[in-house]
Amino acid sequence: MNDQQLLRYSRHILLEEIGIEGQQRLLDARALVIGLGGLGSPAALYLAASGVGHLTLCDDDTVDFSNLQRQIIHRTSSVGQTKVASAQAAPHDINPEVECVGLPIRADEGQLNELIAQADVVLDCSDNFATRYAINRTCLRRRKPLVSGAAVQFHGQIAVYDFRRSGSPCYNCLFPEDLQAAEQADGICHG
Ligand SMILES: [Zn+2]
Repeated sequence: MNDQQLLRYSRHILLEEIGIEGQQRLLDARALVIGLGGLGSPAALYLAASGVGHLTLCDDDTVDFSNLQRQIIHRTSSVGQTKVASAQAAPHDINPEVECVGLPIRADEGQLNELIAQADVVLDCSDNFATRYAINRTCLRRRKPLVSGAAVQFHGQIAVYDFRRSGSPCYNCLFPEDLQAAEQADGICHG
């Protein structure tokens, strides 16, 4: 780590739980952020600020004026642009060391499989259940840690499923896609 990095990340390095070794792991890490709305916006900014070195941002939506009050990575001048185009410069502006790739797509399961294979951690900041279940299945199959967030009105939920551990529960254990099948199952995660 060079002098600039030691200075930029000094507050992390002082933390016993991170230190230089932990910061280097962050710099080397690849995070996949799916969804650039109210959750993905702050998540991407914080990941960049903290020095997570490689970000892939994925969203097929465009910036809407009425969403700017919470989707803080986007700007008024970006209304109508794709969210990916709008968001892509911000991580680099905060931290020029961060490499940021934007994908203006709604990733299908095949694309998710490829993207998740390349990631060290996946952030599900999406806004629909089809995507949530597909991300969960793929992270489980690929044994990649999944950070799953959701927020509605004044309520928020966050969960981390660490599929590197065998026997970890998954999103589908918590919110079964097929409730009837889940009730008939033995309660043990299919992962
Ligand atoms: Zn499960």
